Amino acid sequence: MKIIAIGRNYADHIAELKNEKPTEPVIFTKPDTAILKDNAPFYYPQYSQDIHHEVEILLRICKQGQYISTEFAHKYYDKIGLGIDFTARDLQQKAKEKGLPWAVAKGFNGSAPISKFIDKADIKNLHKLNFSLTVNGALRQQGNTEAMLWKFDELIAYISQFFTLKIGDIIFTGTPKGVAPVKVGDRLEGYIEEKKMLDFKVK
Ligand code: MG
Repeated sequence: MKIIAIGRNYADHIAELKNEKPTEPVIFTKPDTAILKDNAPFYYPQYSQDIHHEVEILLRICKQGQYISTEFAHKYYDKIGLGIDFTARDLQQKAKEKGLPWAVAKGFNGSAPISKFIDKADIKNLHKLNFSLTVNGALRQQGNTEAMLWKFDELIAYISQFFTLKIGDIIFTGTPKGVAPVKVGDRLEGYIEEKKMLDFKVK
């Protein structure tokens, strides 16, 4: 399986990082070794001093496809979840300055904690969904899928031009504002609406 992630999909987050608003979705990938499941702890790596949390809605692909049209994209994902796109902001900043790829800054071991997935059919309004992240009980990020620049179906159509989507692939759909550093000892709890999806510690 593979993980495909979208950068700069919420205008408020683009503003906080002083990035330019893209004319097309920004895509990057993470290897499967980035995944942390079942609320496993995140071990802070020695090569970064500035790891940020980015809470994001996840899509799980249920059907293989390429050149999927926006119209039929909804048939290609059956479940959604919540994930953290951990980002080594110091490494990413260095890469940006040099025009180099983000592979290490975004794809290092443990950089993709993911929740269990819930059936899309059990969700009332997928396109107006609240999600949030607390750190040590304090609200840090709060988003609604309504504010996405590119909606789920548009993302699937766009991504599938370049990467054939396969069953079990996961898409990270972008983060709202409020990204901030984590530190050893922090407890991260993530929610979709009122439902707790993630609860793990930084060690
Ligand atoms: Mg992100």
